[in-house]
Amino acid sequence: MRHAVIVGAGIGGLAAAIGLRRRGWEVTVLERAEAVREVGAGISLWPNAIRALDLLGVGDQVREFSTVDGAGGFRDQRGRWLFRSDLRTRYGGTLMLRRSILLDILRSALPAEAITLNTAVTDVERSGDQLTIAYDGVRRPVELLVGADGLRSTVRASLWPHARPPVYAGYTTWRLIAPPLDLDSDVSESWGRGERVGLFRLADGAIYAYLIANAPQNTRYADERAELQRRFGQWHDPIPQLLDSLDGTEILRHDIYRLPALRSYVNGRAVLIGDAAHAMTPDLGQGGATALEDAVELADALNGDIAGGLRTYDRRRRGRTQSIARRSATFGTYAQASGPLAVPLRNLTTRLLPQRLFRRTTAPLLTWQPRSAE
Ligand SMILES: Cc1cc2nc3c(=O)[nH]c(=O)nc-3n(C[C@H](O)[C@H](O)[C@H](O)COP(=O)(O)OP(=O)(O)OC[C@H]3O[C@@H](n4cnc5c(N)ncnc54)[C@H](O)[C@@H]3O)c2cc1C
Repeated sequence: MRHAVIVGAGIGGLAAAIGLRRRGWEVTVLERAEAVREVGAGISLWPNAIRALDLLGVGDQVREFSTVDGAGGFRDQRGRWLFRSDLRTRYGGTLMLRRSILLDILRSALPAEAITLNTAVTDVERSGDQLTIAYDGVRRPVELLVGADGLRSTVRASLWPHARPPVYAGYTTWRLIAPPLDLDSDVSESWGRGERVGLFRLADGAIYAYLIANAPQNTRYADERAELQRRFGQWHDPIPQLLDSLDGTEILRHDIYRLPALRSYVNGRAVLIGDAAHAMTPDLGQGGATALEDAVELADALNGDIAGGLRTYDRRRRGRTQSIARRSATFGTYAQASGPLAVPLRNLTTRLLPQRLFRRTTAPLLTWQPRSAE
């Protein structure tokens, strides 16, 4: 039986392990953390992500623990609509759930022995067709290596030494899960001056919130909650109520980065997927979705010989994922406008945005099908 080593048990690595096993591969997932776990925040799964989950055989389980968002759009910080669209309903709705639940579902679709925790891969070497990975003082040859080890990928650093490092996008994000609140049934993201807020109801009634602000890289705040109150405490309802309810709530904060485009996702028998290949800003909610697409398409492509399959994967995935990453960064810059002229201009152009144009540009993201199904 053919054997793949996957580095990283995030969304991409677990999904690739499921996809490859369904195609008859034996897999070993090496994860440096002591558990497959991500707590404290939610994730939106757009229709392309849901299609990938269905193809991996776990879509219904994910639906069971999710809310489905229908219509949505953008508002200003006083709550006035700038743009509304039924895009989400047109293409089957977007699921919202806790990240920890998504990871649990993916992990449970694999046999326990497929995942080795507390194991950080420290180096990968290639000599001709031979790949060797190093971890825990062990060096081991690998038939196929999948680098699913995220933004600061060790696989990428080892085999793509000339790749440019991640670039700071100029904004930072807080994420949290707050107690239940009264929320409009239409989901929306609210835009201020270099600041944004998104609120979403989860299946158990709790609220997943993300709050974004332009800030210098690596800014430290003595009290994250006080910083949120200072920035967003005067925004439209129910944002102040949400911020007042945060006693003891875990608040995650991450500076946002994107990875400059790679010229190839493949090096010999090693392949990059997910954030390791194309980390993007979260502005289009597509990082996890494209990692899931990668997993499905990688497993599809590896039907025959490995070298040919990897070339096919690279050809099918690079254009799409790099174009989504570019669009995500452009949209982020637009939405994070902060200047005295830029903000009213952004709001005006958003109000005037034709529905048809919005649909035409967004539909290709959401209607993804694996190439093998076309
Ligand atoms: C604020 C924010 C909001 C987002 N919201 C959404 C959203 O709503 N929808 C969406 O689709 N996407 C969203 N994303 C993007 C999404 O989170 C990522 O694209 C996705 O998690 C990438 O998954 P991955 O498996 O490629 O990488 P990761 O999730 O980074 O997983 C990498 C794994 O590899 C492990 N690892 C790293 N190095 C090693 C090593 N050397 N050895 C062994 N293991 C290693 C790590 O511990 C980790 O478990 C968001 C991102 C951010 C920052």
